[in-house]
Amino acid sequence: MTLSRRDFLKVSGGTAVAGIAGSRPSAGADSVNPQAFRLKNAKETKTICPYCSVGCGIIVHSDNGKVINAEGDPENPVNEGTLCSKGASVYQLVDNPLRLTKPKYRAPGASEWKDVEWEWALDEIAKRIKDSRDRTFKVSAKSRVKEKQPDGTENEVEKEFVVNRTEAMAHVGSAALDNEECYMLQKLMRSWGLVYIEHQARI
Ligand code: SF4
Repeated sequence: MTLSRRDFLKVSGGTAVAGIAGSRPSAGADSVNPQAFRLKNAKETKTICPYCSVGCGIIVHSDNGKVINAEGDPENPVNEGTLCSKGASVYQLVDNPLRLTKPKYRAPGASEWKDVEWEWALDEIAKRIKDSRDRTFKVSAKSRVKEKQPDGTENEVEKEFVVNRTEAMAHVGSAALDNEECYMLQKLMRSWGLVYIEHQARI
């Protein structure tokens, strides 16, 4: 049998359509879809991904207070159900055997990190911040600026300015912080006189 080009396209097109129709899930497919079954009675909570300023919408599913799934929110206009790989792993913020639950401390000269209690760590951090700030705080600093002269020309002169800062400390924020936490941290760091304030996502 000879097959014209038109016949070939007709036959292969028909086969493709039949294949697609055949692969469509039948009604009631949820009952055999393990993911849909797992989430059937789960509680849905909508939230915003805390990792970056894109602010993708996420639906978190929980069962008896335990997070069992997190996925992009299709109703969120920012991401329309999609998530990057970081956002897709967001449930690991609460469920991950590698998650650190205690602060770690490595003493000067030591090669190993050890678990310490929060109370000790917070006291130690406060003590060291105060000590560094007290030793290095500058009320004023000199800087060279251009100054207009009576004849219209500009001269570079050294002037003293009030700065109220310390350059001995820096703060690196976490991409897991939300807007409100970032706002509070900025206030706190500026009140100590820090000028080196960065965010890990920009490094
Ligand atoms: S899912 Fe990815 S892109 Fe969206 S907010 Fe989270 S980190 Fe940013």
